Amino acid sequence: MSEMKKYLKTIKFEKYLDLLVTKLYGKRVLIYGAGLLFETAFKNYNFKGLNIIGISDKKFEDKNSPEKFYDIKTYKPNEIDKLNIDYILIAVKDYTSLSKILRKNYNIETIPLFKKPSIPAFKRCNIQHNIFVERNGLHGKKPKHFSDFQEKLLKLQYKLGRLDIPQIEFNLTTRCTLKCKHCSNFIPQVKPEEHCIISIEEFKIQLDNLLKAVSEIKNLLLIGGEPLLVRNIHEYLEYAASKKKVKRVWIVTNGTLLMNDNLLNTANKYKNKLTIWVSNYSKNPELDTILKHNELLKQINDAKLDYDYVQDLTWGYTSPLNTEKLRDDTKQYFEDCSNHCVAVFGGKIYVCPRAGIFDIKNIYKPEKDEIINLNTETNPNILRKKLKSFYSREGFSACKYCTVLKDREHDRILPAQQIK
Ligand code: SF4
Ligand code: SF4
Repeated sequence: MSEMKKYLKTIKFEKYLDLLVTKLYGKRVLIYGAGLLFETAFKNYNFKGLNIIGISDKKFEDKNSPEKFYDIKTYKPNEIDKLNIDYILIAVKDYTSLSKILRKNYNIETIPLFKKPSIPAFKRCNIQHNIFVERNGLHGKKPKHFSDFQEKLLKLQYKLGRLDIPQIEFNLTTRCTLKCKHCSNFIPQVKPEEHCIISIEEFKIQLDNLLKAVSEIKNLLLIGGEPLLVRNIHEYLEYAASKKKVKRVWIVTNGTLLMNDNLLNTANKYKNKLTIWVSNYSKNPELDTILKHNELLKQINDAKLDYDYVQDLTWGYTSPLNTEKLRDDTKQYFEDCSNHCVAVFGGKIYVCPRAGIFDIKNIYKPEKDEIINLNTETNPNILRKKLKSFYSREGFSACKYCTVLKDREHDRILPAQQIK
């Protein structure tokens, strides 16, 4: 069997094509992409149920290109506008960026023709993510050799009941030193009376409860708002980094504040398992007088601490905070989002920081299983069960209000533009 045929079988193309036929009944459809994969699919599967108006590809721009391709009328990309099409079916394997371009150019909804089948949420959001961070580290940081044998062993341990947290953010404070217009977590929209701060006593209880229930936390992030506003942040670091089950601690700062002596001392003590993540907003000239990156990096370098500082950082666009329900079914949206930033606000675990902020702002009411309260859940067995079912959810109510996928189609922007 050819590689292409094998691939189509692996992605269960026949089943998916049936779904497309039902979904696109009576709609005018254009295929985009006349490569070998489409040829193989067209020759081996039944496309009759689709109302295919034509096929387009850059290669049809050539003046010698055929008028028909497998009996389908061919079109140059610049002719798509005239065709009055309802949907473009993208016939390439990696469709994400092409989808973005086509939607932007023609304002027509796109659907992948060769979509990989869904992976169950627990496998995707926990096991696979766990293996990913084992191999690559977080943020491409601290990659280490992780052999296929180790991967098999880990999967076996999961079968025997292991549960790891690949990555979790503890939001120490929603207060921040900046007011970024496109803050992906909508921190500037948190009103003074809504601010959420975790005290060190609460943090200890929450972390203890969590650690009793899980095998490991691979990456624990101390984040905000701006976590360096928490003057005793060294106590949070000390407590988290001293736990054997916590493999790496991150402090994520926007670079507007320096580390105090207490923090420097504690960071020095745990330098083998700490990374300071300094968000680099220096591309934005309006922050020239506010950022203390150089002094902060000097502190970090002098103490020989591990850090992460992305050169030439640009940002993804974030639409203004949406408060209207945009969809009922969240399964596909959640899967496509593939956000793994599980976040703790006020002791409650949310699927992502946005879900926490939407709750703080009363935009939605999380269902019972969509949050886990670490302040009150002291029974490790019950907490484990809750975590397993949390990580197995195929969607979350917060995703009904989220614009993350639309925003990803936007061009990259200057980081940390401030609200005037
Ligand atoms: S620095 Fe900007 S992006 Fe980061 S939390 Fe503050 S407002 Fe949001
Ligand atoms: S709320 Fe948005 S960012 Fe969070 S998981 Fe859902 S889709 Fe992803």
